[in-house]
Amino acid sequence: MMRLPRSVRPSHYDLDLNLDLNGLTFQGEVAVHLDVCQQTTSIVLHAKDLEIAATEIVHSSGDTVHIPTVHYDSDQQTITIPLPGQLTAGSKVLLRQSFHGTIKENGRTPGFQWIDYKNANGECLRAYSTSCEPIGARCIFPCLDEPDFKATLSSTVTINQDLTCISNMDIRSSVVTKSEPGVQLLKRVAFNTTPRTSTYLICFIIGDFDFTESKKLKFPVRVYAVRGAKIQHASKMLDVATQALDLFEHIFNLEYPLPKLDLIALPDSGALENWGCIVFGERFLLLDPETTAAKSWQMAVETLCHEIAHQWFGNLVTMGWWDDLWLNEAFAEWAGFYVVDKMFPEWRYWLHFVAADPDPEAMAFYQGALDLDSTPGCHAVYNPNASPDRMHELFDNITYMKGASLLRMLSRFLGTDVFINGIRGYLKLHAFANATTHDLWVSLAASSGRDVSSVMQTWTKCAGYPVLLVSEDVIEGTVTLEQHRYLQAITMEPKEDQNIYHIPLNLKTEPDGEVDNSALLASRKQKYSVDLESYKLNVGQIGLYRVCYPLCRIQAFGKQTSNVSLSAEDWVGLISDSHALISSCLDVPMTTADLLDLLLSFPVGQHFLVWRQIFFVFAKIWQAFLFSSSRIRTALQSLHLHLVVSNTPEDVWRVTSKDPIPVQNAKALFYAQGGKHGHLKAVSSKLFDELMAGEKNALNPNIRKHVFQAVINDRYESILAIARKTQDPEIRTDAFISLGYADSPTLIQRSLELLTQDGEPFSPLEKWFLLNALQTHHAGADASWKWLKEKWNKFGRVDRVTISRYVASCTSGLSSALQLDDARSFALSVEDKFRKAFEEAIEGAEARMNWVERDRAGMEVWFERHGFLA
Ligand SMILES: [Zn+2]
Repeated sequence: MMRLPRSVRPSHYDLDLNLDLNGLTFQGEVAVHLDVCQQTTSIVLHAKDLEIAATEIVHSSGDTVHIPTVHYDSDQQTITIPLPGQLTAGSKVLLRQSFHGTIKENGRTPGFQWIDYKNANGECLRAYSTSCEPIGARCIFPCLDEPDFKATLSSTVTINQDLTCISNMDIRSSVVTKSEPGVQLLKRVAFNTTPRTSTYLICFIIGDFDFTESKKLKFPVRVYAVRGAKIQHASKMLDVATQALDLFEHIFNLEYPLPKLDLIALPDSGALENWGCIVFGERFLLLDPETTAAKSWQMAVETLCHEIAHQWFGNLVTMGWWDDLWLNEAFAEWAGFYVVDKMFPEWRYWLHFVAADPDPEAMAFYQGALDLDSTPGCHAVYNPNASPDRMHELFDNITYMKGASLLRMLSRFLGTDVFINGIRGYLKLHAFANATTHDLWVSLAASSGRDVSSVMQTWTKCAGYPVLLVSEDVIEGTVTLEQHRYLQAITMEPKEDQNIYHIPLNLKTEPDGEVDNSALLASRKQKYSVDLESYKLNVGQIGLYRVCYPLCRIQAFGKQTSNVSLSAEDWVGLISDSHALISSCLDVPMTTADLLDLLLSFPVGQHFLVWRQIFFVFAKIWQAFLFSSSRIRTALQSLHLHLVVSNTPEDVWRVTSKDPIPVQNAKALFYAQGGKHGHLKAVSSKLFDELMAGEKNALNPNIRKHVFQAVINDRYESILAIARKTQDPEIRTDAFISLGYADSPTLIQRSLELLTQDGEPFSPLEKWFLLNALQTHHAGADASWKWLKEKWNKFGRVDRVTISRYVASCTSGLSSALQLDDARSFALSVEDKFRKAFEEAIEGAEARMNWVERDRAGMEVWFERHGFLA
């Protein structure tokens, strides 16, 4: 998509919208104040799905010229206005247009949308909302819809008198305009002028709303929800929002720049950071303390803090172009975690950021970045090919999680205070304007005195990340570190391994010594003098890289015979790196059996998030060995059960919403793991029977889905009935996904049929999760791969994203040579647009197959020796 010419720049918009909500159309007028930067004979603006009724140009002399026709370019989503004469650089001109547009159905469409919902009495009602990021503003009014065309905006909206209209700014006036009897009363709501803003942050919300308000800060903070949507459950999140705003004002040393902040809970919506008017799905703002699982609560808090961070990072200072989207998103992610950690230190939220989660529905953070960034063909954090019409490709774990991980690494390298000082300088310097990655490095260099740009450029401009290969010299008392790219593939070409990263080593060299956060490896290879029994690299798992120690060092860490005491973050890193290394193409000194040794010698009393990491790795080993041998599968199961049983709290099922959040999460984790082997079958059946006997609160939301999973083979029909009948979307998801864990052939077929059956209330995302659940057992993985091939030509209306997910899911268990041949020949028959999904799947399967071939025999010996082969 073409960029607009830079010949004119907008300084202000006057926008007047008249909405016909019954007819789902609107009529508008806009006056665009333009500064002429270069001589020009035409003006180009963005407009999409708008019909321009009239156009005139008003010169600063007062002369008005009517322009009879404008030229539409629907591909570029622009209109070109030919001018009778020339505009000269340095002059000002006013462009007036009137236009018509339509309100569309809620979905992925940008612009004005309607959202249908049911109120408490079951009546169908409608709310209306705009969705402008990245290119929706052009569907509302003709504008220069690129992030660096910032301008002020004064708007007026005319709507039915009984509805509420919310926008970025506070209301200047609200006047009833029609008062004849029998005519629908209308009101004209005028909003105060915004500061200079990018168009993608503009927002209008209309509907029948309740609100609740906090006056704790200098400006009002409100939560709005559609009437009847349990506004009483908003109080906790409203509290979090005011706390977070207060913290951000201190951290950034800048007051919140608008006169109010509204948080709008809309049925069936994601989260969008519109300036002063943030939109959320109801699940992020209206949380019933009695029935909300700890994880959902944490997710809501984190999302809220992320969107509030955007009010500064993104909204006040905006990336110059979408190629720097990571500046917005990664920073909001980092700042969100930073503030959550300040507000709830007991959550250990940075540990939560680092540790992977075996729950297929969980968000992946740090390790999501490491995982995606180890595949060939991945994009870099800074993306020169970014285009706003292909933005979905950019909203991924690289932009968010790799970016946030890099900021976390950099903040520790510079020192958090120095880092925050640099951020303050950056925000102040570029407030109400735009900035680039380079601008951020300049501000951080000014606060730290270090050449931040040189340190960071390989990290942000190249795809991938390094692994540090460590060799020890016992006689010299040295370690030699050598960096190479880490790729989760079967081979690596020399050209893929040419980058030299500046790697912050976070090196500890003495038992109780300080960590040297400023040590940097900036060459391929370097030798360091250390006390071999007391050193540790990447302490706290701060860096975005992996470390490959000699086997004796890993064993010393595992048996705790080295002098270094490892933090929970260190354990997570050690386990995660070990798994990544043994399953990769690298020639490493460690095998799967060595990793199992490490897990078996694991010290008791560890943080549950370390266990979460262990169970994640277990799930990966299980997946790789799913088709290898039933002996290994059985042995893996008994080892898993052994670890679960010896660490599960006795009263794991007695979890309540009054337990501290980490306790709820720990119990949920162990319940989930124990439930896999029939270990908690009796208690699960009892709880489920209580639910069926009418005891509505029998299943605490933290363990609800794990109870369903534990009893699914016996209670399939009852659980399917719950999924179909419930009004609660969380219960529906929990029940529906559980069906995938049933492993008898008949039930597997029932589950697969549900994926393509019409008239079921399940979303594409829920169907994908169910398919993922099927991959956790041998029979399900086998059946779903056959199902994918059989149904391929019958998917019909299933969208492309969903089909690509189906491919990734149904091939995630493949790991034998026979299966690979089958997948390769099937891939030849699919349409080009799905070829990439298959190529990635086959690459993953090849890597797993090599891993299994390398390590299977050694594992059998290990299981035999430790008594897990019955
Ligand atoms: Zn964001």
